[in-house]
Amino acid sequence: MLKPGREKPVINQHPWVFSGAIDTVMGDPAPGALVDVVTASNRWLARGYWNARSQIQVRILTWQDDPIDADWWRTMIRRAVEARQPYLSAQLADGFRLINAESDFLPGLIVDCYGGWVVVQALTLHIDQRKQQIAHYLVDVLTELDYPPRGIYERSDVDVRRKEGLSQATGVLWGEEPPPLIQIDGENWRHLVDVRRGHKTGAYLDQRDNRAYLAHFMALNGLTDPAARLLNLFSYTGGFGAGIDAQVVNVDASYEALDLAEQIAQMNHVPAARREFVQADVFDLIRDFAEQGELFDVIVCDPPKFAHNQGQVERAARGYKDLNLHCFKCLQPGGYLMTYSCSGAISPDLFQKIVFGALADSGRQAQIVKHLGPGDDHPVALTFPEGEYLKGLLLRVY
Ligand code: SAH
Repeated sequence: MLKPGREKPVINQHPWVFSGAIDTVMGDPAPGALVDVVTASNRWLARGYWNARSQIQVRILTWQDDPIDADWWRTMIRRAVEARQPYLSAQLADGFRLINAESDFLPGLIVDCYGGWVVVQALTLHIDQRKQQIAHYLVDVLTELDYPPRGIYERSDVDVRRKEGLSQATGVLWGEEPPPLIQIDGENWRHLVDVRRGHKTGAYLDQRDNRAYLAHFMALNGLTDPAARLLNLFSYTGGFGAGIDAQVVNVDASYEALDLAEQIAQMNHVPAARREFVQADVFDLIRDFAEQGELFDVIVCDPPKFAHNQGQVERAARGYKDLNLHCFKCLQPGGYLMTYSCSGAISPDLFQKIVFGALADSGRQAQIVKHLGPGDDHPVALTFPEGEYLKGLLLRVY
């Protein structure tokens, strides 16, 4: 039962109920159990799952009085998977997201697809308790849609599980063990994905469309001459260099990521002279580059999440500003900066203001060529603004 006056977000279909909004817990729900949410005057609002250990004590599954049974799960999974029909038939490069948790109305459940392998991430206790059944529903739905998976692998090794009282879990949930590297053949680029040890479920799928867009944009703007230089900061496995016919300097802190980036470049027959792989802290390197007067035609800056909550926003803002300031200094006049933030706590508006602050300090001029976000396999529920974490700007800089 909610406290008086706390029903508005639930009525507006926000999927989270925080402990502070709850007045009374009736009965003694087991951790992970289904519960009903009612107003202070005992009016039924929604049904979700319970975990007293989390600050988000209820995550809502339905606002209709539906039973949450096998049929419900199959229907919801099928709905999310059907929305990815173009990806299922085209088997696009780099894999794609099948289920985007709260944004697909399935809180706590992330499902990605790489070739014939499906990777599941269970972020909450309720999902963790049902992951075996969920794996079977996924197999059924994908088979019905003519995309039978070879195996379903679990990558529930994320920190947020601790907030739910869960430890880390990885391994095969169903079917075949995935190979050490899954090869995915795209239109003009082949990828290798390590679903066991790679970041997230193996790749940063949310940037897939932006990587393709950059390759297209650089080709259209004549930035394909081998003399054109792209600085790919926070490169991971070099995704932003995919299909780009220019000199690319990939920078990342992780040796493993750069090693795989190099293997991928070789597999795609990129001449060794066109790719550099630099293991460094980007903050140090970009400052050195700026001091040395290194200039690039295009810089991609795609850092990890700096702000994990509201309290870290100020510090994160300083980090983004510093980084973008040095990026501006390292661009040729008429060059391009593709800059991102994946911190949910930093709104698109705030991010743009931070980048503006960096520009002002750099003494350069810039235009917004395009606002960027995740690909369309990462929809965001309109009722769940927290899902809109990835934002970027493509700037022309003078
Ligand atoms: N652009 C990538 C995704 C980047 S994710 C893609 O398209 O796939 C962020 C990356 O930043 C990770 O690979 C991580 O290893 C790296 N990283 C984190 N902190 C870093 C730092 N201070 N310096 C360099 N790399 C860093």
